Amino acid sequence: MLQRAIRNEKVVNSYLFLGNEGIGKKSVALQFAKALNCLGGEAEKGDACDHCPSCKKIDHALHPDVLLIEPEGQNIKVDQVRQMQRELAYKPYEGKRRVCILTAADRMAPHIPNTLLKTLEEPPLHTVIILLANNSRFILPTILSRCQPVRFNPLPIPLVSKWLMEGKGFNEAEAHLLASLSEGSPGKALEIQEEIRQIPREELLKDWVGLKSLSFERIGSWVGSLPSQRENLLLMLEVAKTLLRDLVMVKTLKKGPELIHSDLLQVMEPMATNWSLSSLLKRMEILHQTTLAIKANANTSLALEAMMLSWAEG
Ligand SMILES: [Zn+2]
Repeated sequence: MLQRAIRNEKVVNSYLFLGNEGIGKKSVALQFAKALNCLGGEAEKGDACDHCPSCKKIDHALHPDVLLIEPEGQNIKVDQVRQMQRELAYKPYEGKRRVCILTAADRMAPHIPNTLLKTLEEPPLHTVIILLANNSRFILPTILSRCQPVRFNPLPIPLVSKWLMEGKGFNEAEAHLLASLSEGSPGKALEIQEEIRQIPREELLKDWVGLKSLSFERIGSWVGSLPSQRENLLLMLEVAKTLLRDLVMVKTLKKGPELIHSDLLQVMEPMATNWSLSSLLKRMEILHQTTLAIKANANTSLALEAMMLSWAEG
């Protein structure tokens, strides 16, 4: 869509890129800035050549006409926006178009939107402003209405997996696991790799997810041993979910290649025969509901205890 806009000379003054963290909004915004300013032969196709001086400067964050404004601390500060506005008063130094990329547009200090609104209402010539946001709920309607929205949907898992293997050198099993937990966001896949490595998946499977008899003592010690940080806990619960999902796959299809944890097939096979499909599905559903509750800020210990008690009932 962006390439078509360049080819047809239909590039608008303000865009709003919407999509999950790590999905590639900033990469696309920078690539768009390159395509708009490319001096190579790709410009006619609406693409960037990646080799010309302009493309290289943007790659190295050295292009004077491409401004990337990122939060200083928690959010974008009013001084950063004012500085941007001062620069917009002049014509582009050397580029064909000036591109201002404001990341975290849904996390701006309170009075910034009004300051920014003036620029969006009277956009300077030869300027493209791109706002990036995870969630449009936190953006004023007056700003929304002045930007052309571009939605970034979660990528298909196989595509994330392929990118991890070909672009980042992960092996197949790792790539598959990270992609499955990435929610379709390549950036998230990279971000969680360390944490995922530290999660003892086999232990989780044997002593928790796939264990039929859960005693009160075990429940207590398990809840006590889980990560105290909500983010880490949620990630672990997501891993638990994929382990259960794999158990269901082994139970029903009796094969390995489609598994997320294909390295644990040997452990799962005897386990799966012990379970009925309906109990596995029930366990999965309870886990899913618990994750939702914790995401909605439920007390984690209570939610987990309740989950384990339901699990113990079979
Ligand atoms: Zn170029």
